[in-house]
Amino acid sequence: MSDKTKNDGFAPQEHLISILPSVLAGIFMLLATITTALVKYPLTMFQKGILIGYGVVGNLYLSFFYLLYISTSKNKLLYAWINAILVGISLGLLSIILPDEMWIQLSALMIVASISTSIVSERGPSYFIVLSSTLISSIANLEYLTQLHQRVIQFSLIIAALIVIETIQQLKYLSRQQINRLEIVNEFSRQIASSLDTEQVTSLLNAAIQNALEADTYYVGMVEGEEISLHLFYDEGEYFKDVHANMEGTLSGWVVRNRKGLFLPDLRRDVNLAGVKTVIIGKQKTSLSWMGVPMQGEFVNGIIAIACYRPNAFNRSDMELLSNMAQRAALALDNSLRHALVEEQAHVDSLTGVYNHGYFIKILRQQAETTQKSNQHLSLIMLDVDYFKQYNDNYGHLAGDEILTKLCETIRRHVKHSDAIGRWGGEEFAISLPDTSGVQAMQVANRIRETMSKVQLRNRKKEAIPAPTISQGIAEFPVEADEIFKLIDLADRRLYIAKERGRNQVEPDLSHWDQFEKQGKQPGGTSPHKNT
Ligand code: GH3
Ligand code: MG
Ligand code: MG
Repeated sequence: MSDKTKNDGFAPQEHLISILPSVLAGIFMLLATITTALVKYPLTMFQKGILIGYGVVGNLYLSFFYLLYISTSKNKLLYAWINAILVGISLGLLSIILPDEMWIQLSALMIVASISTSIVSERGPSYFIVLSSTLISSIANLEYLTQLHQRVIQFSLIIAALIVIETIQQLKYLSRQQINRLEIVNEFSRQIASSLDTEQVTSLLNAAIQNALEADTYYVGMVEGEEISLHLFYDEGEYFKDVHANMEGTLSGWVVRNRKGLFLPDLRRDVNLAGVKTVIIGKQKTSLSWMGVPMQGEFVNGIIAIACYRPNAFNRSDMELLSNMAQRAALALDNSLRHALVEEQAHVDSLTGVYNHGYFIKILRQQAETTQKSNQHLSLIMLDVDYFKQYNDNYGHLAGDEILTKLCETIRRHVKHSDAIGRWGGEEFAISLPDTSGVQAMQVANRIRETMSKVQLRNRKKEAIPAPTISQGIAEFPVEADEIFKLIDLADRRLYIAKERGRNQVEPDLSHWDQFEKQGKQPGGTSPHKNT
């Protein structure tokens, strides 16, 4: 936060500009008061001397008030108090010298002095000027002020001064709050611009709401089907996890569906929205103030809502602030999702949705490293569609494409989430299976083969056309090949053998793996096989 707000939200230059009129008025009024006294009233030489002294010193002080103010940039409050004591007491003392009837001019000076003090400082020094000068002048003009109407005027002037002081303080508070909010939004926008995931964005939203708004409870939710999943849910000092809210018939649902903000200052009054009723989530307490804003973008559909247990806790400017934050958050989330999508698209094959050649090798390398570290085994299947050229020729390329898509769907159904599928090229695919032995990989390969044999397509005439068969070669890392390209090469050579043997089969067969296991070759060593 800048020095500007640490103080009271205003720069010295701004203070100087705002007190200039009252300083000028002070100079003019002091001069006018003293001149009037000197000209109009019969005063002794002593009184005249003191009054002239007051005039000169007072006006010099007021003229240099600016410079003094700038030079006391650090201890402004202390200076304000010293200034208040000097001004309050000297105005009080002046009333002793001046003729009684002139107390009203002094009251006007007191009001001007307290206004300028209130502009640049807090209410304490301003009140002090009013009270100290009034008290001294009341004592000095005790007799004169016993008249009722004089007392009423004096009392009214004091009240006027206090009202002006309070109004200035209130306006300063509001603009300070506004500046503070702008800073929070700016900081939020700056930080959010560099955040790339939902969690970061949510945590920034959490901090910004905590700093800028006085809410008992708030949440950030994303639409998931017919529900709103709350990514962040805070209720009176507690964070709740895995909370879901209904879309149907709720305030949040209304905001999401209508893509509009909702400002409800007092929920005790009827909520006039078709089909909407208020629902309690979190603590069993009913919020009385509620506002929600949509958080929507190309990929984002959600809401931010805040609530308070007392009515009229928020104003329109709070709503504006929340809406601003929601828009920025939606933009940031959209960017991050777009980024993830572009990245994902760069890794996958557009026809089948499996990894492309380059990305598959990258994943295989990572999986092999993990396998080596954990002393496990990984199997690789290389798969090729049999006589696919002929299949294309017979049934057309579109049917061929459909087969490739169906094949990948089938592979996906038979492998684990942690396994990787890649399009090696054309109609050849690679499947890596971490923590899977050759025997297990063979079972997977056979299941894929069997499922594919049952696949049926329909041509344009709606006639059933059969699916082509597939051939597969398997190799195990690191037992048979301790490096990924050796592993790929071995699986590829075995695929070729499967083709040579007549296609629609897996190579090597179970006997290979049985023999392998009997030899007691556990992960860690290499053993070339007769078929390699
Ligand atoms: P083999 O049993 O020896 O593998 O015979 P094959 O005909 O499958 O082998 P070959 O390599 O001679 O032919 C591969 C064919 O795969 C050639 C090409 O038309 C077809 N193919 C490759 N990519 C695609 C694709 O994306 N879509 C379609 N429809 N066909 C493809
Ligand atoms: Mg082929
Ligand atoms: Mg091929």
